Formats: sequence, structure tokens, C-alpha cells
Amino acid sequence: MDYQKLAELLFPGQSDDVDSIEKKYPPRNLPDSAKVTRFAPSPTGYLHFGGLFSAFADILTAKASGGVSFLRIEDTDKKREIENGVKAIIDGFNQFGLEFTEGITGENSERGDYGPYKQSQRVDIYHTVAKKLVEEGKAYPCFCTEEELADIRQRQEAEGSDTRGYFGKWAKWRDADLSEIEKKLEDGRKWVLRFRSEGNPDKKIVFRDVIRGNIEMPENIIDEVLLKSDGVPTYHFAHVCDDHFMRTTHVIRGEEWISSVPKHIQMFKACGFKVPKYAHTPQVMKIDEQDGTKRKLSKRKDPEAAVSWFADVGYPAEAVLEYLLTLLNSNFEDWRRANKDADIYTFPFDLKKLSVSGCLFDTDKLNDISKTVISKMKAGEVYDLALKWAEKNDAELYKLFSENPEKAKDILNIDRENKKPRKDIAKWSDIKNYVSYFYTELYKPDYAFPENIDSKDESEIINEYIKIYSRDDDKDAWFEKIKSLCEPLGFCPNVKEYKKSPENYKGHIGDVSSVIRVAVTSRTNTPDLYYIMKILGYDEVISRLKDSAAKLN
Ligand code: GLU
Repeated sequence: MDYQKLAELLFPGQSDDVDSIEKKYPPRNLPDSAKVTRFAPSPTGYLHFGGLFSAFADILTAKASGGVSFLRIEDTDKKREIENGVKAIIDGFNQFGLEFTEGITGENSERGDYGPYKQSQRVDIYHTVAKKLVEEGKAYPCFCTEEELADIRQRQEAEGSDTRGYFGKWAKWRDADLSEIEKKLEDGRKWVLRFRSEGNPDKKIVFRDVIRGNIEMPENIIDEVLLKSDGVPTYHFAHVCDDHFMRTTHVIRGEEWISSVPKHIQMFKACGFKVPKYAHTPQVMKIDEQDGTKRKLSKRKDPEAAVSWFADVGYPAEAVLEYLLTLLNSNFEDWRRANKDADIYTFPFDLKKLSVSGCLFDTDKLNDISKTVISKMKAGEVYDLALKWAEKNDAELYKLFSENPEKAKDILNIDRENKKPRKDIAKWSDIKNYVSYFYTELYKPDYAFPENIDSKDESEIINEYIKIYSRDDDKDAWFEKIKSLCEPLGFCPNVKEYKKSPENYKGHIGDVSSVIRVAVTSRTNTPDLYYIMKILGYDEVISRLKDSAAKLN
């Protein structure tokens, strides 16, 4: 077969050669230990949480090694594409302050010397490599129609053949004569370019996955499609060309691609390219709320599958990244305990420590982490972030917070900036409920007085307290006054004392302050009541005390 002639027939005018592409994209000038990673989504119009998980692994791996991470858009499948599909992905990353070193930066922008970073703009590169493969007898055109391929599938099924697809005796065009091919081309028949696999069905290949260790699989024997009939590459071929010329060292991608590794390695070798390292990340799973089974996080069923959800409900970006790290590296939590305030990017991230057993999305865990993250922020920062969130998502809260920033910050400052700050807020959408009793517009009295105290005693506590509450008391004086209520009303001012002989009392000081707390806030659990009352102001406190006493009578 005159492969040179075949190559000319298939790619007339394709004058570039692979060597000049090699020169255009030289090996990166980086130390040997530096890793080059990429995130390569299709522009499907949203960023999946699993994508964020994988992309964060890319970024951390590159950063931890002084390497490069880049964003490549895989837009070869027109069926999966939607308008502005890239923007949603970029927005998704911006939301978390995540940035790749290079690659796509917007719908029509990119940076870096290894582009273009959109596959649809790289057709020349794919065709140049494809032409070389044809010249070397490693790829050939196939004119099979859809019907013929369906027929092959059917016959394979009927025969019970273990391997299904275009290979061996089924690969009708693999050894076709040049004259036969020429005739089809003259007739204007459509063709795809297929890879001529030299795989041996009796042989295995072993490759080392960075996360999973050695994986053994049968060699690939299928003559995969490299270029579709419109000249657009398949994922497999584009992956090989792009990750070679973009000089990727570590292909971090979803585990659904593991089964394709044998053909990818074959293709890298056939092209004369160095095979990159592979790291296949686990799927992000969740426990189904309905039936308790473990399943993939699904865009259809789970709002949290799209990362925009985290911004919509108001998780701080920092908390989500912190949570992602606990999913990515199991030793992160120990590190965090030992390095309480350290920047997450100083964590020695290690791809090898990724768990393979699938990772479970756990809202409770995310909330715990987020509460801790928010508890460490200063009131001003909480205010700024919550206000920004409310501007988009909660007009009522936005109005209250922007009308009186000082009040909002005072509220948020209670029990903050100390050794053990309270952890009440997991996300900005929790704030309205958290602050509701401070604002007459939001406050709806609903008293749940302690059940162990008689309502007559409760009303007595409140009425006596009204007599002594003063706007001028400092915290100690305020507390002493509550204490002073106890004995005359039959309550023990000291909890330890009370525990020695509870039969002598109606309750203890904790019960007395609980009654006042409920009377003022309608809650049993609040931050420091002294400060709450200060913020509410004398008149409002007295009016609430009176209202609640009236309810009790
Ligand atoms: N475009 C592929 C996908 O969205 C990327 C897989 C890869 O990272 O290589 O699944």
C-alpha cells in the first residue's frame, strides 16, 4: 500500500508537519518535579461538583509542585454544547477564587503559549498528526455506513462475541486496496479515520495509576475512530494530541475513563509521544434521601451537583474549598487541627492520598466546616459577605443590613473574636433566622418557656426583672441583678449548690436567665443575652418583657 499517496488523498493541502508543531510547543521550561495538569470540561453550561473536585485536584497538584494547571475546553461534541457554556464554567471557578495558570479565561479569551485551548480551534493540529499516522500505515479511512456498523453489532451479539466493535475480521476497511478507497473518495462517500490497532487480545497491559496503583487490562484491539466524518476528532484522539502538545505531565480525570487507558497508551505510542501519568479520580457520591442507597451525585436530583448552588445558598467559597480538601486528602483534617489558621494552599496536597473508594458528599460535614470557617471571621467580614449575598438573594435582609450596618455588625460581633467563638452560621441564608429577633420587621414572638418552671413563677421573674433592669448596667452589674432575683423567688443563685439539694428550690439561676432570654428573644439558645439586650435597647427590652408577662398571665 502506498501510504504516502493515501495520506495525500485524505488530507490534500495539509502541509504542516508534526515536527514543526513540536517546535511550536516545546517542552515546558520547568524543573523535573513540576507537574503540568489540566481540567478539560465540555462546555455544557454548568460546573458539576465532581468537576470542581477534579479541577481543584489539578490546581493543587500544580501549585504544590511549582507546575502549571490549565483549562481546556473540549467542544468537539456539538450535541452536548450549549450557548454560553464556557461562561458558566468560568463563573463557577471565579465563585471560588480558583484560577488556572493558563488556558481559557472567558467565552472568547485565553492566556498561555500552548493554545488555542479550545479543541474546535485545533483542527489543524489533529489533521497534521492524523496525516502522519496515515503516512506510517497506523490509521486508515473507513467508509462503513451506520447501517453496516449496526449490522456488525447485531452479528457480534448473535455470535456472543466477547469483544464488540470494529476489529479483526469485522474491520472491513483495515486492509482495503488503495484503488477501492480511491473509488469511494471519488464517489464522495463519507469516511471516518480509524486507528490501526496492533493490540493482541491475548496480551495484557499494566499501567500505573497515580491514585490506584498498578492496573492490568487486556490490550486494546479495537480500531477506534480518530476523526469523525466531519473531520472533528474523537475525545480519544484529541486527548492524545492535546495532552502531548500542551505538555501535560499528569492527566487527572474521572474514573469513567480508566477503561480507555489501553487505547490511549497505544495511541500515544503510535504517535511517537511520551505517555503522561494518569490519575483517575473517584466519583462524588451521595446517600439518597429517599431510599438510603449510595449513588452518584446527580444534576437532575441534587441541586448541589451544580456548584452555583453553593453561592446561591451562601456558603463562603473558603468553606467549600476546605470541605473539598477533606474529600480529596484524608489527612487534611489532621493537618488542619495542627495548623488552625494556615492558608489551605500551604497544605502539602498529594494526589497519591486520594481515596479510591468513592467519596461521599455530606451536607452535615460541609455545614460543620463552614460554621468553623465563619466563626473565625471578623464581624465586618461576615457582614460584607452576607450583604453581598443578600443583595442578590434576599431583598429584605439586604435592606435591614444596609440601612444600619453598625447594628448588623454589633449583632454579628456577639461572642465572636474569642477563643471559642459560637458556630451558629453555616451559610449566609442562615443569617436571617439567626438575627430575626433583633429586628421588629422580622420578630414574631413565640415563647417556649422552660417547661420545668411554673408559669406563675415565670411571670414573677419577668415582672421583678422589669423593676430592676437598667440601661446603664455593665455586664457584671447586669448579671448580679439576675442573680439577685433568685433567692427571693425561691431559685438557687448557684448551680452547684442547687445540684446538692434540688428539693429546696424551684430551679436555679440558669432557669431564671432562660425565662428572661425567652421573654426577650423567643429563643432558648442565643449568644450572650447581655449584648443582645444592649443592641435591642432599653425600650424594646422592657416592651418585650411586658408583652411576654402579659402572655403568661
Ligand atoms: N471532556 C472530557 C469530559 O468532560 C474530559 C475528560 C478528561 O479530563 O480527559 O469528560
